[in-house]
Amino acid sequence: MKNQKAPQIVRAETMPDGTPEVPVCIVGGGSCGLTAAIALRKAGIDVLVLERDESGTGSSALSSGFIPAAETRLQKSLGIEDSHQLLIDDVMNKAHGQAPLHLVKAYVLSATEAIDELEKMGLPFEIVDGFLYPGHTVRRMHTMPEKTGSTLMTRLAQVANDLGADILGQSLVCELWVNAQDHVVGVGYQRPDGAVEYLSCDYLLLACNGFGGNSEMVKELLPEMANAVFAGHQGNDGTAIQWGRQLGLQMGDLDAYQGHGSWVTPQGALMTWAFIMEGGVQVNALGKRFNDETGGYSEAAVHVLSQPGSIAWNIFDAPLLELLRSFPDFRDAEAAGALRTAITVEDLAAIVGCDPATLKATLDEVRAGHTDSMGRSFTRSLQGPYHAIKVTGALFHTQGGLEVDAQCRVVKTNGQTLSNLYAAGGAARGVSGRGADGYLAGNGLLSAVGGGWLAAQDIAKKLHAA
Ligand SMILES: Cc1cc2nc3c(=O)[nH]c(=O)nc-3n(C[C@H](O)[C@H](O)[C@H](O)COP(=O)(O)OP(=O)(O)OC[C@H]3O[C@@H](n4cnc5c(N)ncnc54)[C@H](O)[C@@H]3O)c2cc1C
Repeated sequence: MKNQKAPQIVRAETMPDGTPEVPVCIVGGGSCGLTAAIALRKAGIDVLVLERDESGTGSSALSSGFIPAAETRLQKSLGIEDSHQLLIDDVMNKAHGQAPLHLVKAYVLSATEAIDELEKMGLPFEIVDGFLYPGHTVRRMHTMPEKTGSTLMTRLAQVANDLGADILGQSLVCELWVNAQDHVVGVGYQRPDGAVEYLSCDYLLLACNGFGGNSEMVKELLPEMANAVFAGHQGNDGTAIQWGRQLGLQMGDLDAYQGHGSWVTPQGALMTWAFIMEGGVQVNALGKRFNDETGGYSEAAVHVLSQPGSIAWNIFDAPLLELLRSFPDFRDAEAAGALRTAITVEDLAAIVGCDPATLKATLDEVRAGHTDSMGRSFTRSLQGPYHAIKVTGALFHTQGGLEVDAQCRVVKTNGQTLSNLYAAGGAARGVSGRGADGYLAGNGLLSAVGGGWLAAQDIAKKLHAA
């Protein structure tokens, strides 16, 4: 894009003469924006999604596409006993009670409705089997059969398109037009040639994610991740927060984020934490473990980054390799040459570059019925041949954002909600409390899909009532 403009607020009572109008405009065509667009079209409301890329992919397409939801039709059909309260408790427990309860409740209820409705519209959800992510008490990760965010996005785009949602790519929203009463009157968006076009709308939903791709904001707000690889989408540039700051909006948990302690390096791919939950371990370059890995993959990012060389080795064996090969990201990493194999502990030590006796002592601790000094309990030992993959800690996405009420309406610093401005997904405050260790696996898409659906329901209700 030529001469990309910084996000700004334009104060005006009306849009320029001749500006086209739409009832609802959505900024960003990731999973949040597309889910909201689908819900609005289902309610018979016209919507235009403005997306900076040629088509909406965002971090949603880079993700594994695992969406937690409870009491869904699919769970019930599989005989999985779950409840909204159980999921709410799991989210709150992982966040040490610091997540905004009104949002956790609203997202959990809304995610069930969204998944059930999207399933009826043809999305072939399955539930991830074989392991539980840290903090989840039952199997509730809803996924596409391919277990990728890109296939989730392809299907969401298809449904949105079939329902008649308009999605305009190569449209970077750079101006938010707001009147003296803080009522949004429209937006200005830049086209590839740099020209700004205008759109007037009755309601605006910010679905443009957080600030993980804005290195200056990461340095300011998440200094511990300033040097970490960012594995999300470059469009996570903090636009929503920059508008929020200019408008005097309230922010929540800006120091919260999802990290990942298993980012394959140098190949650059996600290695799922499933291998940890089923008995694998991480050792540093000295051949020593350094934390209870089962605490969670998000907080593991900082633990890994603080090891020598900012790396760790994921160590696992043949049964875990089989499990890992069911994940497309892992298969990609293996195809790129990341997998190393050793018959003996001595060979494994040569791969890690550590003292064989140290590594042997580390692996001797990994045995059924043993709880180590860091509090991790093991149910099995690792058997040769051993496998190893080098990883580092990465920043996946930010969890702080615009404060929103239980309908996803943004809130000013004086506590008042704005009449027609909504935020959801990564643009809004998340449900992970503070820091990195409050992130329960799936909180990202819970907020995006649950929040997008929720915001759309409220907007639809208001438009129908008008
Ligand atoms: C590697 C990886 C794996 C992950 N795995 C999971 C997982 O399995 N489960 C889970 O819950 N979470 C996961 N996450 C987190 C999850 O991807 C995000 O929380 C989620 O995708 C956020 O969705 P979103 O729609 O808010 O944002 P996005 O998907 O990032 O969409 C935002 C969209 O807005 C567009 N945009 C931005 N600014 C503008 C603008 N000014 N004008 C127009 N368009 C704009 C962007 O181009 C983008 O398309 C993962 C993240 C990563 C990086």
